[in-house]
Amino acid sequence: MKTIIEPFRIKSVEPIHFTTAEQRADILKSAFFNPFLISSQDVIIDLLTDSGTSAMSSAQWAGIMMGDESYAGSPSFFRFEETVRGITGMPRVIPTHQGRASEKILFSITGGAGKVFLSNTLFDTTRANIEFSGAEGIDLICPEGLHPSIPAPFKGNIDLIRLETEIGRIGADCIPMVIITVTNNSGGGQPVSMANIRSAREICRRHGIPMYIDACRFAENAWFIKTREEGYADVPIPEIVREMFSYADGCTMSAKKDAFANIGGFLAMHDDNLAQECRNLLIITEGFPTYGGLAGRDLEAIAIGLQEVMEEPYLRYRTRTTEYLTQKLMEEGVPVMQPAGGHAVYLDAKAFLPKVHVDQYPGQALVCALYLQGGIRTVEIGSLMFGKYGSDGSLVPAALELVRLAIPRRVYTQSHIDYVAEVIIDTYHARHNIRGMRILEEAPLLRHFTAKLEPVG
Ligand SMILES: *Cc1c(COP(=O)(O)O)cnc(C)c1O
Repeated sequence: MKTIIEPFRIKSVEPIHFTTAEQRADILKSAFFNPFLISSQDVIIDLLTDSGTSAMSSAQWAGIMMGDESYAGSPSFFRFEETVRGITGMPRVIPTHQGRASEKILFSITGGAGKVFLSNTLFDTTRANIEFSGAEGIDLICPEGLHPSIPAPFKGNIDLIRLETEIGRIGADCIPMVIITVTNNSGGGQPVSMANIRSAREICRRHGIPMYIDACRFAENAWFIKTREEGYADVPIPEIVREMFSYADGCTMSAKKDAFANIGGFLAMHDDNLAQECRNLLIITEGFPTYGGLAGRDLEAIAIGLQEVMEEPYLRYRTRTTEYLTQKLMEEGVPVMQPAGGHAVYLDAKAFLPKVHVDQYPGQALVCALYLQGGIRTVEIGSLMFGKYGSDGSLVPAALELVRLAIPRRVYTQSHIDYVAEVIIDTYHARHNIRGMRILEEAPLLRHFTAKLEPVG
């Protein structure tokens, strides 16, 4: 295979501040071994998240200058609306300041006590907004989606058999909607196949339940359909995207992901009455329906980004990046989730640090080791994030202890990724010196953001 090059040239650059290992040891100590508490200036390669961290194109920056900041009826809104309609086929388009604002509005109206939302996997903010409304959320991921080391093409699929049985058990009347998250962020950025979306739609239709798509990474999902699912190799990405959305009654979107924007989001749907109710709430919490929590310039940047993200050279480079890093790590025996997801590479910290017991947070120990070794910032997705305490005060661990390396869009080049691989491999060779972690202080909810820790022993 020929090298797949970055499909862009660089016109504007941001300096990286380099630190020495000694400096990083001090920085990490002052941040209580929690990289969320480190200044981004002290990070060499920042893989904390792919959300809002994309590099915008020259066309998007030009769009920023074209933004019309009128309170009502801005042409920037009409351009945004037309783009979202074109991509999703959904006539009612509501801008919001980010994905969770769309979720808050949608679930405030459709949720509530006694309601149950079914999904392949609900993202944390989606689940939080569902539960905040008083409703319940149930994840029905396919069996292969639960095994990091077993490769399968569509590990984000919803389990169709369990979908049927859960609808039978709960009753369609209590299920406001089924939500398909593409790609499945919390499940390793794994895609959902068109066949699975179509079948889920068919089940929903039979029971009269609406189906929504959490569309944050719709273009990455479409690329996986094109390259992995029979019959789609020759179909252009916008057509695949259109087919995906054609099965849905509505969608929520964070433009901080597959729209290359630093902020933004939207809700889109077919149902007129529901859209009107959403707009009524929007006016209270976000703003007038033609800007909804965004500046006119943001609407321009999103409209342009939504088109750029469907370009095939970009998607080829994007998915090649995670695949390339995964391959390099596997060649050295580093335990890594397979196959690579769309937006991130996941290390299996339990296998990486077998001697660190789960109640000493192997994921967080590895996150700290990677920062010390090479100034790379990553995030633990394991028992620090999802662990709970049992009635006797002992840790009830998460199912998996993972470390996520999320790749910002269009930000890093191949040499940055080579450096990341080198740092991980060096850390792997020195893994026997890595100590576990103990929590000193923690908040009652979402503790991973602010917890203070120290190494044990
Ligand atoms: C990021 C994300 C959201 C929430 O979007 P924000 O813009 O961060 O509020 C919802 N669902 C998924 C799958 C996401 O990745």
